[in-house]
Amino acid sequence: MIPMVDLKAQYRQIRAEVEPALQAVLESTQFILGPNVQAFEKEAAEYLGAKHAISCASGTDALHLALVAAGIGPGDEVITSPFTFIATAEAICYVGARPVFVDIDPRTFNIDVERIEAAITPRTRAILPVHLFGQPVDMAPLMAIARQHHLKVIEDCAQSFGASIDGRQTGTIGDAGCFSFFPSKNLGCFGDGGMITTDSDELAEKLRVLRNHGSRRRYHHSVIGFNSRLDEIQAVILRAKLKRITAYNQGRRAAAHTYTGRLRELPGITPPWEDGKGVHVYHQYTLLTDDRDAIMQRLHEARISSAIYYPIPLHRQEVFAGQYEGVSLPVSESVAERCLSLPIYPELESEQIHTIVDVIKAHVTG
Ligand SMILES: *Cc1c(COP(=O)(O)O)cnc(C)c1O
Repeated sequence: MIPMVDLKAQYRQIRAEVEPALQAVLESTQFILGPNVQAFEKEAAEYLGAKHAISCASGTDALHLALVAAGIGPGDEVITSPFTFIATAEAICYVGARPVFVDIDPRTFNIDVERIEAAITPRTRAILPVHLFGQPVDMAPLMAIARQHHLKVIEDCAQSFGASIDGRQTGTIGDAGCFSFFPSKNLGCFGDGGMITTDSDELAEKLRVLRNHGSRRRYHHSVIGFNSRLDEIQAVILRAKLKRITAYNQGRRAAAHTYTGRLRELPGITPPWEDGKGVHVYHQYTLLTDDRDAIMQRLHEARISSAIYYPIPLHRQEVFAGQYEGVSLPVSESVAERCLSLPIYPELESEQIHTIVDVIKAHVTG
C-alpha cells in the first residue's frame, strides 16, 4: 500500500535524537511555553528570516490570533481564496468578519491576484492569501494592491513552510504569516501546533499577550485573550524536524519533478505548474484530469492512495448556505471537480512514483 503521507520514516530518522529530549521534558515537568518552545521560536524565526515567531496551539489559532491582533472585527471584510481548507474562512468568521472569496488562478490554484482589486469595498480590511499545496502566491503585486488600499495582509502558510517567492520565505512578506504544525504538514509535530511570524514589534507583543490569556505578567490581564500555546513535547519534535526541513522540502520537490517529468507526456493530465519565480514545496502534488473517478479507482485497485483536495469550494459549503448565492467562481468550481492529489512525502521513492504513474498511464493510454 502506498499512503498519501508516511510519517513513520521521519519518526525513525529523529527517534534517537528526540527520545532523550522528550524524557528530559517529562522529568522537568515544565510542559507549557518552556525552554524548548522559546528555542524553537528563535530557530524558526531565524530559518524563515522573520523578526518574531510566536507559537500557538494550531494553525487555525494562528490565523484567528493574527486577525484579532490586526484589529479585524465585526462588519469588516477579508478577501481570501475559496479553494482552501475551511480553517482559513473559519478564522475570519471567528472575529465576526466576512470572507469575500476571489476566484483562483487555474494553474497555481492560488487566489488570482488580478481579480483582487475588483473585490475591494469600503469595508475591506485585509487580504488573506493562502499558499496552497506549498505553491507560493505571487506576493509582489498582491502587496502593491494592499499598500495602495491600506489593507493588512495575513498569509496562510499552513501548507508552505519553506516555500519562497522572489527570494523571501512565505510568512515574511505580509504583516503576519500563519503556520500549522499539524502532523501531516511539511513541518509537523506529534499533535496540534501553530505559529505566527511578523516583523512588527507591536503585533508580536499583542500576539504573545493574546495567546496567553491576555496576560503579560502572571495573573495580570490587560485584554480578553485565549489559551493557545505550544507545549514542550511538540517543541522538541519541531526543533528536530526544523533542522531537516530543507532536506524534507528538497525530497518533496524531487518527488514532484519525477512525477511531472512523466505525467506531462500523458493525454488528459495537467500536472502542477511552477512559475520559476517561486519555490514550491509540494505539501500536495495535485494534478487536473477530467477522468478523476476512474483514475482513483484504478489507483485504489493497485493499493495506491489518492485524495481530493478539495471537493467543494468554500462558497458552496453547507456552512455558508444562502450567503454566497449569487457568487460565481467558475475556476474554483471547475478545479474542485477535476483536482486529484497523489501520494507525496520526502521519503517517497522514485520506484514508487513510477509504479503510480504506470497505473495512470495504463488507464489514460489504454
Ligand atoms: C491545515 C490548515 C490550516 C489549519 O491548521 P490546523 O493546525 O489544522 O489548525 C489552515 N489553513 C490551511 C490552508 C491548512 O491546510
